[in-house]
Amino acid sequence: MTKHRRSVTVMDIDFTNTSMSAFLNDSLYPCLAAEQKCFIVTANPEIVIATRQHPDFKKTVQSADYVLPDGIGIINATKMLGKPLEERICGVDVMHYVLEHAAQNGYSVFFIGAEENSNKKAVENAKEKYPGLLVAGRMHGYADLNDEAFIKTVVEARPDVVLVALGMMRQENWIKDYIDRFDKGVFMGVGGSFDVLSGTAKRAPSIWIRFQLEWLYRLIKQPSRIVRVVKAGQFMLLHVPVVHKIGKVINYNRKRSRKKD
Ligand code: UDP
Repeated sequence: MTKHRRSVTVMDIDFTNTSMSAFLNDSLYPCLAAEQKCFIVTANPEIVIATRQHPDFKKTVQSADYVLPDGIGIINATKMLGKPLEERICGVDVMHYVLEHAAQNGYSVFFIGAEENSNKKAVENAKEKYPGLLVAGRMHGYADLNDEAFIKTVVEARPDVVLVALGMMRQENWIKDYIDRFDKGVFMGVGGSFDVLSGTAKRAPSIWIRFQLEWLYRLIKQPSRIVRVVKAGQFMLLHVPVVHKIGKVINYNRKRSRKKD
């Protein structure tokens, strides 16, 4: 799979610059039809901040075929940088489109991640919502997902789509560790999307999304997300043009003084 050519770089991460419909019709569906392999990361500000703190994770994200802008913070940052991305592409929406397309075209899906109840219910709901959906298998996210027997089970099922819902970092790292064992498949980290699909968690009502307040809705529902919100705030601050410029100068000076040493 080749990298998408149109991209906008935010903190060394190349975000795919396209619309949802072009991404699906020109990239994702053809990849499924051609039985190619493809690694999709849906990245929000937190993921970008995490790539600054974990160099190995940064390499993992950079190795993806597509890094989609999931999170209004990414879109706003690219606007501030004067290179706006075309549109926000939400991971949970991509997941639904993929499930619909898979059901219509006979592609099979493996569901990995979330609590056992949520995983089971998510698969049941997916089958109900998308009649004819072929389930290649499923596994909750609290088992040993590095167990060789489990990996063999997934590889031998030859899924067309592998959805991994383990939360950021864990899911992308799992994909990076095992994607080479497969000869085809669309691999995508979907965060808490199984919890939404199963009904265990609710997505923010559309009015909150429209006013760019999805993060606040999730924070109210799950106050432990405060650390993430702070990270997203840190990300936004780094993209206010003046702060961005000061950061660049500091980095430049730091590199120069390192060279002198
Ligand atoms: N999860 C899991 N195994 C773990 C840790 C988390 O399966 O060891 C699941 C968790 O049950 C939840 C999802 O990963 O369904 C993470 O959801 P979250 O909303 O935190 O994802 P993010 O915000 O990172 O997209």
